[in-house]
Parts: sequence; structure tokens; C-alpha cells
Amino acid sequence: MFANAPPAPTIASRRRLTIGRRLFYTHLLVALLVALSLGAYLHWAAESELKRALNARILDNATLAAQATGPAPWPAVMGPNDTQSPEYLALQSQISTLTERNLAISRLLVVRRGSDGMRVVADSAGAVSGYAPGDSIIGSDVELALPLAPRVLNRTGGFNALAPLSGGQDEHAVLVQIEIDDISEKLYELRRNSALSFIVAVALALAMSAWLALSARRVLQGFAARFRQIAEGESGQRLELRADDEFSDLAVALEDMSARINQSHSEREGAVVELKAARDRLQEMVRERSAELDKLNVMLRSEIEQRCQLEAALAEAAATDTMTLLLNRRGMLEVLDHAAEQARRQHGAFTVLIADIDHFKRINDQYGHQVGDQVLIAIGRRFKASLGHNDAAARWGGEEFLLLWPGVTVTEAEKRANELREAIGSGPIFAGGPQVTLSLGIAEFTGLDTVERCVNRADKALYRAKQEGRNRVHVGV
Ligand code: GH3
Ligand code: MG
Ligand code: MG
Repeated sequence: MFANAPPAPTIASRRRLTIGRRLFYTHLLVALLVALSLGAYLHWAAESELKRALNARILDNATLAAQATGPAPWPAVMGPNDTQSPEYLALQSQISTLTERNLAISRLLVVRRGSDGMRVVADSAGAVSGYAPGDSIIGSDVELALPLAPRVLNRTGGFNALAPLSGGQDEHAVLVQIEIDDISEKLYELRRNSALSFIVAVALALAMSAWLALSARRVLQGFAARFRQIAEGESGQRLELRADDEFSDLAVALEDMSARINQSHSEREGAVVELKAARDRLQEMVRERSAELDKLNVMLRSEIEQRCQLEAALAEAAATDTMTLLLNRRGMLEVLDHAAEQARRQHGAFTVLIADIDHFKRINDQYGHQVGDQVLIAIGRRFKASLGHNDAAARWGGEEFLLLWPGVTVTEAEKRANELREAIGSGPIFAGGPQVTLSLGIAEFTGLDTVERCVNRADKALYRAKQEGRNRVHVGV
């Protein structure tokens, strides 16, 4: 739809660290860190609580054992030889019974701290399988050298707590070994539960991360596809997201933008259609105008032609004598100027001849002006008929005529003039008309001459012909 739209970019998701993957890894990392730290803290707290409760229990048991054992009345029990003494036997029996009755206590030792270190008084396990009276408890000296107070031991070679006996001359105490199988079991359970919780947390983190990455990827792919549709000008389906979040705001903004693009596109198409229509109208107007102009041109050309013809006719009329239809004086002057120029250019010559009707006044008087006019017309015809190819004739004034003979010498002209004069004067000028004679003056034009002077010479020659008796030809010099 858009002619110049760039090609849709290919999404090489496999070759890139996509947003989906980034979300997956970061979310997983964060979830794992949180799960690890929270799990470690909870585990530590639970284990600490368990240990604290255990210590309290151990201490209670040790204190109870110390109370049950009572004050220490056996300063005599000092060494292995005392095993048969009644005090030892009584004590041995007492602590054995105490150990048997209290299931939490697995072994009980009565000890005495003296100047030579910590010595055993009696052992619930018996002198044979356990410690004999007077045995030194090696390895626990440092710890047992501390003030005798009820406390849980850390390094007792198997004994968990110590509690001092009340009374007695020396410092006596009981060392108890507590049955810790159930405690180990609880600890194991705690660790197993923590491990299970951690595995569940990891699985949940993986699932959540994958879900987050997939949903983000799906949304972004939806956006990419919609952007491509808009770029290619396809209407397509509106992008609508179910979740009410920033992505749905973005989708709304994108659809707004798409609608505006579509609107401006259709407006542009409308404008283009209007523009084309306007261009077509303009072309039509130009065509019509051109046709009108062509028509006007034709009319103008014909008008110019008519005008030229008219002007030519006018010019001709202006140069023509209306009665005889010969050139008039003005027309002849133009012809004379032209002939003079040509003669000067070509070093040629021409002859001018002026003819005047003799006693024409008498003809008018005798026959009337109308006949006089007819005489003028008849003489004009005669002159016209006598003209050669380049010759010209004019009515020069009243009853005077002027003839132009280019390239004709004076001698030749005199001969032709006499022939004309004789032909005209030989009979009536027209049938039933009067007989008229002509007097003629001739002058030759040369390159050094002017038309005016040449005509004057011809005029003077005519005057001489009149003076010498009329009906004759005279050549001017
Ligand atoms: P000449 O032999 O000395 O030339 O005598 P003429 O009578 O011919 O000469 P003049 O100059 O005395 O008379 C010329 C006459 O020509 C006078 C005039 O009335 C007449 N005329 C001039 N133009 C016309 C015209 O157009 N028609 C007629 N009928 N007569 C004309
Ligand atoms: Mg005259
Ligand atoms: Mg005359």
C-alpha cells in the first residue's frame, strides 16, 4: 500500500539475547538468590531453635540427674580399689537406676575436681565397661577446669552436659550423655525439608521465570507483528491485551497512532484524487482554450489576409486614376522613383514621354465634357495597349499623360512616339467621336539625373512642341 515502505526487518531471535531470555535469566537469578537466602535464613533459624531447645532439654536432664543423685557423700571413693566399698556400690546402683529410669539419659558419670584434675567417682556403665573410680578424664581437663556450673558441653568425649552436685566437700558434678538419636532424626528432617523446600522454590522460580519470559515474548511478538502490519498499510486486527498494564497502554497508543496514520493516508488519497480531477479539468480548459485560440488564429490570419488585400486594393486605388484606370500622378511618381533607383544601380536608362491633347478645351466646348471624358478614356486605352512588359502609363493631370519606357533610347523613343501620335491622330479617337491630335515631349533619364529634372525636361520639350505648332514630338535636352 505504501509504495516506499522499507522491507520488514527479520527478527533473528535465535541469534540474540532476547528480552524473553533476559527476563528469564534475571528473574531466575533473583528468585534463586531470594530462595537461597530466605531458605538459608529459615533453616539457620529453625536449626538454631532446635539446638536451643535441645540444649535446654540436655541441661534440664543434667540438672534433674544432679538433683536426683543428691549431695556427694563419698569422699572415700578415690581409686580403683574402692569398687567394693559400700559407698561406691550405693552410688553405682543409684546412678544405674537413674539412667535406666530416665530414657533420655544414656550414661551418667559422677566426677570430682581436685588438685590433680578431674577424676571419675562412678560411671553408670560400670567400672569394668566404663570408667573405674579415680580414672582421669583426659582431654576434658581444660573444659572441666572451668567453674562447675550447669552447662552444655561441646567437647566432652561423648558427654553432653555437666551439672554440679549440691553439698559435698569437694567439687562434685555429674556428666550426662543424652540419647540424641531422635534429635539427629529431627535435624535430618529439618535438613530434608529445607532441601525439599529449596527444590520446590527452584522449580517455582523456573516456572515463574519461564511464564514471565513467555508472556513477555508473546506480547512483544504481538507488537512486532502489529507494527509490521501498520508499516505495510494493512488494516489487520486491533491489538488488544487482556492485562491492564503498561503494555495495554502501549497497545492503545499504538492503535491510536495506526488510526491516525490510516486517516491521514485516506485524506492524502482523497487529496490526490482531487488533484487529479483538478489537473484533468485544467487540461480540458487548456484544450478548449487552445481550440479557441486556433479558431481565433485562423480568423486573425484571414482578417490579416483580407486587410492586406484591402490595403493592396487601397494602395492600388490610391495609385490609379479612376477614369482611365491608368496610374495617377502619385502612382507614377512611385514607379519613376523605383525605375530611377534601378537605373542608378544597374547603370541603365529609361525614357519619359509626356503627351498633351491639343486644344482639348475646344473639344469640351464643342462636344461637351462627357465626350471630353470619353476622349480621355479612349486615349488611355490606346496608351495601355501600346505598353511593353516593363513600360508604365499614367494620367499625369487634366488631359496630360506620362509614359515610361525603360531601356529605350531617345531615338527609339522618338520613333515610337511619332508612331503613337500618327496612329491616334489618323482618325476619330472612338467610333463617332472627334479626331484629336497629341503634342509630345521626350526626355531621357541617366544615372546622374533626378526624376524631377527629367520630367521637367520632358515638360519643356512638350512646351516646345506646342509652340512649334502642335501635333508633333520634341526631344528635351
Ligand atoms: P493646348 O493645345 O494649348 O493644350 O490647348 P488646350 O485647350 O488643350 O489647353 P488648356 O490648358 O487651355 O485647356 C485644357 C482643358 O482641358 C481645360 C479643361 O477644362 C479641360 N479638362 C481638364 N480635365 C478635364 C476632364 O477631366 N474632362 C474634361 N472633359 N475636360 C477636362
Ligand atoms: Mg494641357
Ligand atoms: Mg491641351
